[in-house]
Amino acid sequence: MEKKRICIVGGGASGLMAAIMAAREGACVTLLEHNERAGKKLLATGNGRCNLTNLDQDPACYHTRTPEAVRSVLDSFSMQQTIAFFSGIGIYTRNKNNCLYPASMQASSVLELLEAEARYQKVKFKYQEHVTAILPGEKETNRFLVKTQTWQYPADAVILACGSFASQIQGADGSGYKIAENLGHRVIKPLPALVPLKGKGTYFSQWAGVRVEGRVSLLADGTVFQQEEGEIQLTEYGVSGIPVFQVSGYAVRLLDEGVPVTLLLDFFPDFDRKGMERLLQMRKEQCPYKTLKELLIGLFPKKLIPVLVQGCTEIEEAAAKIKEFPVQITGAKSLEQAQVCSGGVDLAQINPLTMESRLVPGLYFAGELADADGLCGGYNLQWAWSSGAVAGKHAASDLNCMHSQNASCNDTAG
Ligand SMILES: Cc1cc2nc3c(=O)[nH]c(=O)nc-3n(C[C@H](O)[C@H](O)[C@H](O)COP(=O)(O)OP(=O)(O)OC[C@H]3O[C@@H](n4cnc5c(N)ncnc54)[C@H](O)[C@@H]3O)c2cc1C
Repeated sequence: MEKKRICIVGGGASGLMAAIMAAREGACVTLLEHNERAGKKLLATGNGRCNLTNLDQDPACYHTRTPEAVRSVLDSFSMQQTIAFFSGIGIYTRNKNNCLYPASMQASSVLELLEAEARYQKVKFKYQEHVTAILPGEKETNRFLVKTQTWQYPADAVILACGSFASQIQGADGSGYKIAENLGHRVIKPLPALVPLKGKGTYFSQWAGVRVEGRVSLLADGTVFQQEEGEIQLTEYGVSGIPVFQVSGYAVRLLDEGVPVTLLLDFFPDFDRKGMERLLQMRKEQCPYKTLKELLIGLFPKKLIPVLVQGCTEIEEAAAKIKEFPVQITGAKSLEQAQVCSGGVDLAQINPLTMESRLVPGLYFAGELADADGLCGGYNLQWAWSSGAVAGKHAASDLNCMHSQNASCNDTAG
């Protein structure tokens, strides 16, 4: 039986998953990675603990221009199948508020076991191979030639799993977008997501370093777009923390489209505005000697209080600021500080049942390179696992694809 030769470009989460799935289907798999090792970003996930998926798989947790395509991919290789897959290679998961981590709480164990399984499946790893282009094969038997700076690899199918620009982790250079564009694909402008946001104001140095539980509402064109709760981090440039990350993708894209964006920070979500006023009035009645500033001691971190009462003389004014503190957003911190990119290769040009390009038969996509990004909480890795599994499985088993005449896996002729 002839073996199909598959080249995978990128040894991150999606590339490793694709490699294992393709090899399990019997393909001869070569994985090309320009770093000196695979999975560098994976090692940094979840603060080194790897939040590998989330038990709550609501479609609203993923952002894309093509939600039906993302849903189809996540249905084809679901969160449950992901957990079963990891259990099969040796990962026992721990649940923290629906976020699943390896029981070891070490991302390195996830990477180690993925690599071990890939090696067991005879995947060939080629490191320090920077792929520059994918060319149509010169010989009839080679559908593609995958060009690196020093070599070219013939392949029957190619899976592009290069990831995005996001983070300062070595290897995240966004080169996959150019490769995809050169093959005729539309790339929706990659922008930082899951990223701290910068604001306009003179008070940031006063609150810098404060962490406070609250609610963040994204206001654009007078409409509340998205609301998130959690620990808000107040910084010298603006705001950060998980709830800010969750709304940042939308905020950055709206700003890029020229729509002004404001975040309304609610520093006391337990009460509505009237309730907040009543609480402050009650505190004033209990301790009539207190100034407005002193009324807030015990409710808020000390550094936040002067910012909240600035320009206020009445309890009502202070309550309004506590409940709806406006921060005009001017932009995001850089791509290096983002965890993911929104945008990417347009999924309308990819068949979601297989992750094969609709423009270039035999070319597949996986991971963050495609136009799908998730909320914080394991969703981005879930997308990487699902899209990688679908691409790997179909790249190897697609019957319409021409089979190599060379059965050998010694396939790396230059
Ligand atoms: C600090 C941080 C923490 C995160 N934590 C979480 C988390 O806990 N849970 C979660 O779900 N998500 C998390 N994410 C997001 C998640 O890591 C990514 O969405 C996911 O790794 C994307 O997988 P990928 O395979 O698409 O890309 P990557 O993992 O980035 O892999 C792409 C690989 O391709 C290689 N490559 C790129 N171009 C080329 C080329 N031209 N030639 C050869 N090789 C190339 C790169 O070196 C890289 O190894 C985090 C991200 C960051 C930065």
